[in-house]
Amino acid sequence: MKIVMAEHRGFCYGVKRAVDMALASTNANCPVHTLGPIIHNPQMVSHLKAQGIDTANKLDEIPAGRVIIRSHGVGPEVYHQAETQQLEVVDATCPHVKKAQQAAHALLTVGYQVVIVGEQHHPEVQSIIAWTNHKAQVVETPAEAEALPYYPRIGVVAQTTFAAKEFEAIVTVVKTKCEELKIERTICTATDLRQQAAIDLAKKVDIIIIVGGKSSANTARLASVCREAGSLAYHIESANELKPEWFTGVQVAGITAGASTPDWVIEEVYKKMEEMNVTDVVKLEAGSIVKGTVVGVRHDEVFVDIG
Ligand code: SF4
Repeated sequence: MKIVMAEHRGFCYGVKRAVDMALASTNANCPVHTLGPIIHNPQMVSHLKAQGIDTANKLDEIPAGRVIIRSHGVGPEVYHQAETQQLEVVDATCPHVKKAQQAAHALLTVGYQVVIVGEQHHPEVQSIIAWTNHKAQVVETPAEAEALPYYPRIGVVAQTTFAAKEFEAIVTVVKTKCEELKIERTICTATDLRQQAAIDLAKKVDIIIIVGGKSSANTARLASVCREAGSLAYHIESANELKPEWFTGVQVAGITAGASTPDWVIEEVYKKMEEMNVTDVVKLEAGSIVKGTVVGVRHDEVFVDIG
């Protein structure tokens, strides 16, 4: 069995930045908390806990010290409350998320009804809503967009991890719901790159393993785009969930990982797959496949990379 890693996988810029900022706080001479889990990855949360960084769900739970705002960001009231509680704020909001928050706030200020294309309960979406004084509407599907009332002016922003194709389909419907539409395409390229690399890989392998937290929206989406691409895809959180029977008769397996999956978790999955009753393991980086190399065999078809 050959194992091919997706060209773009794992930690994105914003998550790496947030984790680095949290790890840089391990030597602080005061209590350190992250506001919510730093990333949607239980292994990383446990790792930070072992280093003395706890997770608080609300600022009220933090009596003193330092609070780390994770990459999803928070609304203005959280900064105000932290100031009132005299907490030291380490703001690890991803700059791309900040841009979406600022875009939503600016649209509201100049009189647009803000519509966020995203998942209502996702923390990033909640943070963007807060920057619109909680006036934004959230839509996740074309059907939900269809149910919007008519507004003279609508300004659209996207949850940064939203799928680009679905975003455009929703925007097409939103266009019919207003006189004037302004679109802020705040989807982050990290998401697109991971999704495209996952789709490319899914088309070339017998099975693809998607590694990442079960509550990670972007990881779940990677699994769904792989399935849409016709691949047998399993979303796992850690190597322990791999089952040997998945690999029976598999000649080429792929691995990809969500933006919040640490490299060491991906490597553990790779190693476990290597141990699983397979011979002739060849680790290939998708980007390093040279022109003409056979990269996969699936349903009796041979896939050759044509560069
Ligand atoms: Fe930032 Fe993009 Fe990563 Fe979200 S996916 S944290 S927007 S870099």
